[in-house]
Amino acid sequence: MVQRIVIVGCGVVGAAIAYEVSRCPGFEVLLLDRHTPGSGSTAAALGIAMAVSSQRVRGRHWQLRQQSLERYQELLPELESLTGQSIQRNPQGIVNLCFEADRLERWRSLQQHRQRQGYRLDIWSPAQLRDYCPHLDPGDALAAIYSPQDFQVNPQQLTQALVAGACRQGAQVVWGESVQGFETVAGEAGQGCTAVLSCGHRYPADGVVLAAGLGSLPLTQHLQAPLALGPVLGQGARLELPQSLGQPDFQPVINAHDRHLVPLGQGSYWVGASVEFPPTADLANPVALLPQAEQLDQVIAGVIAYCPGLGAAQISDRWFGLRPRPQHQAAPVIQPLAGFTNIWLATGHYRNGVLLAPATALEIRDRLLRALT
Ligand SMILES: Cc1cc2nc3c(=O)[nH]c(=O)nc-3n(C[C@H](O)[C@H](O)[C@H](O)COP(=O)(O)OP(=O)(O)OC[C@H]3O[C@@H](n4cnc5c(N)ncnc54)[C@H](O)[C@@H]3O)c2cc1C
Repeated sequence: MVQRIVIVGCGVVGAAIAYEVSRCPGFEVLLLDRHTPGSGSTAAALGIAMAVSSQRVRGRHWQLRQQSLERYQELLPELESLTGQSIQRNPQGIVNLCFEADRLERWRSLQQHRQRQGYRLDIWSPAQLRDYCPHLDPGDALAAIYSPQDFQVNPQQLTQALVAGACRQGAQVVWGESVQGFETVAGEAGQGCTAVLSCGHRYPADGVVLAAGLGSLPLTQHLQAPLALGPVLGQGARLELPQSLGQPDFQPVINAHDRHLVPLGQGSYWVGASVEFPPTADLANPVALLPQAEQLDQVIAGVIAYCPGLGAAQISDRWFGLRPRPQHQAAPVIQPLAGFTNIWLATGHYRNGVLLAPATALEIRDRLLRALT
């Protein structure tokens, strides 16, 4: 019997789930979004995927990163060949500048750990950094850690390609409809959801995935099982120079003090991202979060401090987004909704939704397969 899976929310996470689930025989996928694909937090993301250079070495946090890293290697070419859409990415790795001696010790031990896991981290002296990246000023940096297996991908293009791929595999999509409720029935093992309701439409469901980012909070409130999620604002900017800085054939992503520089080619760069917490964590009375211009100015100034050539760049775009951050548990939230037998949460990815979307999708696919087939 075919199982009808309704996925609510089409950011990078919902799109990745739709893609993986629609590959499985026996599932019929419907992907719903109140706006257009990738228009939530995903629209603001820089798409940096730091797995090998993250300090997570074991447990769930590392496993999700490792699984995403591995899936990404096949996923991007697979999507390009299935859909004919190209997905911009920077495969030249990530360079992290290190300024403190105790941190450098941690990097050294991470380097050994990664080597045992089969991954590479190089530790460069400031002089080596100058050789490889002559456009950077190491300043007080003690070292630079180069992670060649980490990368960056354009989040919006990725989301579009995932949706196109899912549709090729038979998924149906509905844009511009907000999910406003659910039909549920009580059972012995818990409640079951039989349909997802938008304004004017009823979508029958055998399984439901809530991948609505911050919009997951009101949806879980409807279901009397509220998931505490709060927004953390982030800003980014696009800078333009007549031509790219540094060595033309080596343009890795750079990070210093959590200020990232993403080379896009032909003198274009993304710079980000600020991390702006709301003044109150009271989810019952959320305040409208607005971007503080000076926070982005500080990020841009921080990047120019280590990449002085960018001081001459024009800012061609500034934007912000709200990251969905779980309040009382670690990000991300990938689990059944409490009290329900066929609703799963795939949300709360906070600062790593692009990195973790493929692993999230595989975990949700496996849970659906176990529960419904
Ligand atoms: C400035 C900035 C930079 C970032 N950089 C990175 C980065 O470099 N790397 C990284 O991995 N992550 C990064 N992130 C984090 C990343 O953007 C998020 O973790 C990720 O986009 C979350 O994806 P999502 O699909 O869960 O949510 P979203 O992208 O917010 O998607 C949720 C979707 O659900 C829809 N929706 C909500 N409610 C409803 C409803 N009731 N009915 C129908 N649809 C609904 C919304 O319209 C939206 O399209 C960054 C974030 C910001 C703000």
